[in-house]
Amino acid sequence: NRATESKKQNIPPPAEQKTKKEQNEHTEILYQQLAEYKTQLHQAKTTSYRLQKELSIRRQVMDNQDCGILFINLELRIMYANPVFLKRTGYSLKAIQAKRIDQVLRLTETDCTVKEAMKQSVHQDRWEGRACLKHAVQQGNWHEGEEDPEQAEEKTSIISFKYSDGQEDDQEKGFICLLYPEEARMPPSSYNNFEAGNNSGKNHLSAEFTYDALTGLVDRPSFQQYLEDSIHAAKEDDSKISLLYVDLDHFKRINRIFGPGFGDKILCSVSTILQQCGQEAGADLIARLSGDEFALVLPPPADRERALKLAQAIMQRFRTPVNNESRAILIRPSIGYSIYPEDGETPLDVLRNADTAMEAAKSEGGNRVCSWNSGMKIQAAQSLYLENDLRQAVADDDLINFYQPQISLSNGSICGMEALARWIHPVKGLISPAAFIPIAESTGLIEKMGIDLVRQACLQGKKWRDMGFRKFIMAVNISGRLLRRRDLFHQIMSCVESTGFPPEWLEVEFTEGVLIENMDFTIDLVDKLRAEGIKLAIDDFGTGYSSLSYLQHLKVDKIKIDRSFITNVTTNNTDAAITLGIIAIAQNLRFRVIAEGIETEDHLFFLQKHNCHEGQGFLFSPPIPEKEMTGLLLRDCSVALNHKRMIDKFYTIKA
Ligand code: C2E
Ligand code: MG
Ligand code: MG
Repeated sequence: NRATESKKQNIPPPAEQKTKKEQNEHTEILYQQLAEYKTQLHQAKTTSYRLQKELSIRRQVMDNQDCGILFINLELRIMYANPVFLKRTGYSLKAIQAKRIDQVLRLTETDCTVKEAMKQSVHQDRWEGRACLKHAVQQGNWHEGEEDPEQAEEKTSIISFKYSDGQEDDQEKGFICLLYPEEARMPPSSYNNFEAGNNSGKNHLSAEFTYDALTGLVDRPSFQQYLEDSIHAAKEDDSKISLLYVDLDHFKRINRIFGPGFGDKILCSVSTILQQCGQEAGADLIARLSGDEFALVLPPPADRERALKLAQAIMQRFRTPVNNESRAILIRPSIGYSIYPEDGETPLDVLRNADTAMEAAKSEGGNRVCSWNSGMKIQAAQSLYLENDLRQAVADDDLINFYQPQISLSNGSICGMEALARWIHPVKGLISPAAFIPIAESTGLIEKMGIDLVRQACLQGKKWRDMGFRKFIMAVNISGRLLRRRDLFHQIMSCVESTGFPPEWLEVEFTEGVLIENMDFTIDLVDKLRAEGIKLAIDDFGTGYSSLSYLQHLKVDKIKIDRSFITNVTTNNTDAAITLGIIAIAQNLRFRVIAEGIETEDHLFFLQKHNCHEGQGFLFSPPIPEKEMTGLLLRDCSVALNHKRMIDKFYTIKA
């Protein structure tokens, strides 16, 4: 029974007696070690590549100065001399590196020796004086302090010593010596060009990184440089790295509501969290790219799985609110990631694709993680085609409005309608605004398009009024980009004036988020619009930051409860509570309130029971073209909605 015996004596059993489980564990450990070595190797290569580049740059700077430059170690040995010095003295670099400083020059006009002068420079900022150089051919058995007739013929130079304490771990301590011919004047700040990096060594990889002043993270230029080096190293040893791109959803709103000072504090907290998560996952570098954009690099062995794991860890961490100044703020990041080399072979591609993946995460509603895939490239290309087509459509006035009725829940009549943009594409057919409004916004096309649609709505509204339908509000949507146009007020007024639509029946809808982000423009604009009788509605209410203070600053007429709360209003307690809360706010502040997305009778009954004023949704009608809307208006005749039979009747009439 050797196994028990060896156990007793604490001796591991011989290899052939290891169980399969033990062998597997052993292999697992070896794999882990191998992975760690790979990471270390990659980091070392990245650093070495970077240092080589740095060195070459520093060399070039040194070699192209007009003065002689020496680096002397603590034993007074010359470690480096630039070409100017070598040319003046006739030494080769190798020959000078065999010398001590006091063997090649002698101080004049002072009693102090070279050694003493250098010693003084340790305590002062620098030591300055004059010296005579000794040429290579002239040096006989000359010693400092001794007269040397040949040496005296060499013109004196202005000389200075400055001590460099080698702030970084592996930097050589020593003295930098500059030599100018007597006739030249030494620029006072010349040392700044030669001094060793003054960096406090925040990052283990390089002294030459620059940092973002607010968060202390590496900044964008350094990040790009690092990514380049890291990819270069990964290419050499055939390994992978991954890049995570993090962006905070609606960060502007935090700035807007709580002020930029508070926003800055939040950014610092975010960067601390990212650093913690990054370090736990073994990330190489965490950088702030701009405003609320951050990036993390995972060194080899990196793959999709590890990147996803880190992204998920970050998401998990942000599920708890970030505390600042006793305020708890929920931060919602969107993360995209890409892998070198499969998602991109150049640093630019890897970065761009991680960014695209992040944008995809945002367009899917934000607060999620997205991996880059080649489909995104196709999508990007498609959206480019779509952009060209849209440009044409806007120029040709090919965009039209559909209209969706808004129903008074107290008497069932059509009390208003919302104009909703539609694009009838010659090949693709009907395209939803969800697909083209974002393109129109990002390209600026929305500026012409948005106003054209308002004019179209006013024109159509005027036609219906002329037919005798006079008691309905025409609601139009205004995008954030349009809101920032200085002439928006005049543009809207020109729409009503040129069409003859009475301004008191026009209502402009801004989403809550857009309003908050543009509060400065909005207050003034809303005042002017209201002076003309135009109404203001807040769209998608409840989806923005729940700061209600802005409602007091703005003279709002109507709030529109977002569809997302109505969908489950009868089955989800939270949604019901939020809906009731919004109705209560509206009633207290004397706004009208309308629920969007009423799809079922249950929705309708719930809202009616709780005194919501108006409703809009597929139960009554989807958005319909102008002709169908005319038909609906003709058949409307105040359908009473407080009875189910009446709703059915409304439906039968509509059908
Ligand atoms: P919105 O202003 O919140 O418009 C309501 C959206 O909800 C419309 O989508 C409408 O079709 C949809 N909807 C209405 N009732 C129901 C329902 O019962 N169930 C469901 N599932 N959906 C319902 P649509 O027309 O696709 O418009 C989407 C968004 O595009 C609009 O949201 C608005 O923000 C924007 N938009 C539309 N037209 C314009 C425009 O002319 N200018 C600007 N700037 N934005 C526009
Ligand atoms: Mg709307
Ligand atoms: Mg809405």
